Amino acid sequence: MTRLTGRACKHCTNPFLAVRSNHRFCSTNCRVANHRAGKKEEQEVQVTFVEYISDAISQLSYPELVGALGVLWAETPEEMKERKESLLYTLLKKKQQQ
Ligand SMILES: [Zn+2]
Repeated sequence: MTRLTGRACKHCTNPFLAVRSNHRFCSTNCRVANHRAGKKEEQEVQVTFVEYISDAISQLSYPELVGALGVLWAETPEEMKERKESLLYTLLKKKQQQ
């Protein structure tokens, strides 16, 4: 027996009748559009993160980068746990205060 439930589409918010309990979209169009939008958002966040990191790293000198890498490699798990902020953040903050 099929049980129809009234629901709002996750994409266009139009009300529709869901045949199955896992129906979330009123149409295939909405399902595909929602999927595409989600994928696009993920990619944009990734690019922004990579851009942010590249930009931040480009502000540091080679000795600063090598020094930070050395600290990371020498760090014990206990020290890592006690660290309140990322090394990158610490280095950038120090640079801004100069
Ligand atoms: Zn819809």
